[in-house]
Amino acid sequence: MTVRLRPHHLLCMLTYAGKGYSPAFTANMTVVVERIAGGEPIEIVSGPDDICRPLLSEPDPHCQRESVQVRDRRASQDVGQLLGVAISAGELPALAEGRLDMLRQAFRDGKIRAACRDCEWQDLCGGISDDDFAGTALKEAGRKAGIPG
Ligand code: SF4
Repeated sequence: MTVRLRPHHLLCMLTYAGKGYSPAFTANMTVVVERIAGGEPIEIVSGPDDICRPLLSEPDPHCQRESVQVRDRRASQDVGQLLGVAISAGELPALAEGRLDMLRQAFRDGKIRAACRDCEWQDLCGGISDDDFAGTALKEAGRKAGIPG
């Protein structure tokens, strides 16, 4: 199995600490993040992904909007430049072994946050990164699974 992620969710997975749009959304996102922490490969997709799924039954889900595609393009550029890989449709090279920490540090330093512009969760995510991502689901799940980073 692969975890299907749209590009800007490569950032959201770093700061996710159990808060989200609805209980169904957070329950699903927790499972997705635990799969990533467990080393499941990530497949980059264009448009709604495994994290968006609980929102897609709503009328006019924001996941389909052009503004979210813009977010994806900004994240693809920033993350791709940082990691030296193309963030485009298809399987992403493994993120373990220090790459998650690279992403966290760059996020904290504001180097890969163009995608976060105008996002309603900006203050929350900024505070979480300032707090060294303490209590985030990815960090906790990775620690339990014995995965560095
Ligand atoms: S500010 Fe928005 S886009 Fe950026 S990591 Fe947080 S939830 Fe994701």
